[in-house]
Amino acid sequence: MSSFDFSWKIIPLKLKEVFTIARGSKSEVHNVFFTIRKDGITGYGEAGPNARYEETAEDVSQFFESLPKDFFKELTHISEILPKLEKLDLPKIYSAMAAVEMAWLDWWGKSRGKPLWKLWGYDSPVGPITSYTIGIDTPERMQKKIEAAGQYPIYKIKLGTDNDREIIKAIREVTDKPLRVDANEGWKSLKQAKSEIEFLSTQNVELIEQPMPSSELEKMQELKKWSPLPLAADESFTGTEDLEAIAQAFDVINIKLMKIGSLHKARQTITQAKKLGLDIMIGCMIESSLANAAGALVGLEAKYVDLDGHLLISNDVFTGLSVDEASRIILSDEPGFGVHYEW
Ligand code: MG
Repeated sequence: MSSFDFSWKIIPLKLKEVFTIARGSKSEVHNVFFTIRKDGITGYGEAGPNARYEETAEDVSQFFESLPKDFFKELTHISEILPKLEKLDLPKIYSAMAAVEMAWLDWWGKSRGKPLWKLWGYDSPVGPITSYTIGIDTPERMQKKIEAAGQYPIYKIKLGTDNDREIIKAIREVTDKPLRVDANEGWKSLKQAKSEIEFLSTQNVELIEQPMPSSELEKMQELKKWSPLPLAADESFTGTEDLEAIAQAFDVINIKLMKIGSLHKARQTITQAKKLGLDIMIGCMIESSLANAAGALVGLEAKYVDLDGHLLISNDVFTGLSVDEASRIILSDEPGFGVHYEW
């Protein structure tokens, strides 16, 4: 009987423009692509390690290096992968764990000759409209970025600066489209958060993502009681927190595969979160079309998606994930995640 081989490669993904959020700037990311092979079929996974969660490409590579050579032997169902990874005596590198499971799932779908959205019982490969992210810059350059991205119907605006109002006023000079605002923990006090949200509630803003630092859960519970706009948890929700406490502080959770470490767990979390009255957003790090296709798969169950990582890079190493004229994310009809490696 043949067995699985696996390998990995770090590929720098280059951002079309320097990407700035409240925490800092980057012009490229080092994602790690994980490949498994058996019976002539190749499955692909991607890890997008993020410094906010104390993960690097080296940590991811080390995780793959330490994986037992027979790790994939006898696996029959996706639900077995996360518990098996957690049992290994390895640091929990969630982006690496997501990549391992993603590669197996892609292989499994391909081995059955069907797209995963069909194998998972979805009626359609068409997901919600993705927002398109505008990173922090001068108000004039943010206006230009909006104009250059005129095809997108919803923008996610990064804030958490000293001149957030000036930025929004400048953006409103060039577009009246709905905005989602992501403060990336940038508003440090309840007073500041309330003041900014009060202003934003008059500016056709759909929701506010991560207004305050994740350490300020109690203050965000207070903020939710008052807020005229829905609040979304991103940094506050990585997958290990008490979901009931999160539901008291937020209206929406932003699930990212690189934070939660598993598509299977993401689906279970979606079910639990909906029971608690939370709306679901599927987000991403800076990622290729591969990880965003995986996000799009669970995104079929979401109200919001923010899956634009592959649109922000100039060297997407996978093809096959589409965005239609309405900016809805569409998975392909090809087997597995339906994407092709183009490196
Ligand atoms: Mg965010």
